[in-house]
Amino acid sequence: MIVGAGQAGSDAAAALRMAGHQGPITLIGDEPHLPYSRPPLSKAFLLGEVDEGGLILRSAESYRDHEIEILTEARVSSLNSIERHVVLEDGTTVPYDKLILATGGRPRSLPNPELSAARNVFTLRSARDASLIRQHLSQARRIVVVGGGYIGLEMASVARSLGVDVTLLETNPRLLSRVTSPVVSGFFRQLHQDEGVEIRLNACIDKFETDDAGNFESLYLTDGTKIEADFLIAGIGLVPNTELALGAGLKVDNGILVNEYLQTSNPDIYAIGDVARYPDQQHGGLSRLESVPNASAQARRVAANLTGDCLPFNSVPWFWSDQFDVKLQVVGLSRGYDELVVRPDPSRARAITVFYLKGGVVISADIANSPKDFAFAKKLVAAGAVVDSALLANAAIPLRDLVPLPASI
Ligand code: FAD
Repeated sequence: MIVGAGQAGSDAAAALRMAGHQGPITLIGDEPHLPYSRPPLSKAFLLGEVDEGGLILRSAESYRDHEIEILTEARVSSLNSIERHVVLEDGTTVPYDKLILATGGRPRSLPNPELSAARNVFTLRSARDASLIRQHLSQARRIVVVGGGYIGLEMASVARSLGVDVTLLETNPRLLSRVTSPVVSGFFRQLHQDEGVEIRLNACIDKFETDDAGNFESLYLTDGTKIEADFLIAGIGLVPNTELALGAGLKVDNGILVNEYLQTSNPDIYAIGDVARYPDQQHGGLSRLESVPNASAQARRVAANLTGDCLPFNSVPWFWSDQFDVKLQVVGLSRGYDELVVRPDPSRARAITVFYLKGGVVISADIANSPKDFAFAKKLVAAGAVVDSALLANAAIPLRDLVPLPASI
């Protein structure tokens, strides 16, 4: 049984069948839709380039053909790991043999609950959230985005592309501060400013005003600046949905803790995707990643582990983000880097390639608008390549000529 019918849950169900699992598979999700892809929610869907049907990961026939029973609008309210069953909100008990938790996360709320509760203050996680935002965007002239992370920046990009004025508030002194280096933060700040986004760093909301109907109208920053807007979107991070695991006594710490085989503290229960915090073979320590490639790779690994090909999860993380005409692609995690190499290439507009090294080893790269560089950077990171940083910085030398890599990578 799989609880959570999102990217990881749907991919795990499909991967189990691909791996030859013969027994029943039940995929339980609380949303009204079949499992769908979330990345377009802050991109093509908001731009009106794709509708809800276009987000669906697999058709109803595909689940049927593979004998995957899928329950939608079915929220699991508790998990009994002794009796091996889950209980749905309507009281139905569903037994399991092995359980995969793929419950994802929910958007972090603004610290001010009254502001969060205003009728035109939104967060973005689900297709429902995106539909609501799309509706409001079509009538808006100006909006406030709180949060200079990927979701906030993608929202700002979409809104500007639709001709809406955007003020983006970030409490930190730079954008994307949690995930990248100052040089890449600077690149995105310039991009957004060039496109007319008003960026306010070190920005703290002091107070806000609503109308009689409870709609947010304006806010004041602590420096006294007043900002008026038609609505506000907060993109300030994710809270993993760990309640079921906690209730069942599983170990939880900023995510459901799993071992290298993706097993929770109960060996018959696995956790994958945004909710799972795992021992990171690549970077050391524990990681909990919020990305489609991670959800899919863990889904495939857990399916293999459950069908006999039991190996530790060890996948090189990667990620992408689309903002205006820039596609950022990231491989590896840059945390703990001791050297940063910018590979300049003046021939490409709105492009940047930055490598992160630790002890001479390439551990990560942030690459904007250069899919060729990205394809090779993935290989360098996967191989743990040791590269001379002076050569890496020399854009005249093709990346493929820098180090001989084994053919298997
Ligand atoms: P989810 O896809 O969130 O699925 C979890 C499901 O479990 C949800 O449907 C939830 O409702 C359900 N659930 C939770 N609790 C219960 C319960 N008790 N009972 C039943 N069901 C339950 N990643 C990228 O790599 N690139 C991008 O560009 C990118 N853009 C994104 C843009 C947006 C707007 C968002 C929201 C995410 C984006 N991501 C992106 C992240 C990516 O979508 C997630 O990492 C991925 O969806 C994680 O999959 P998951 O299955 O772990 O969680």
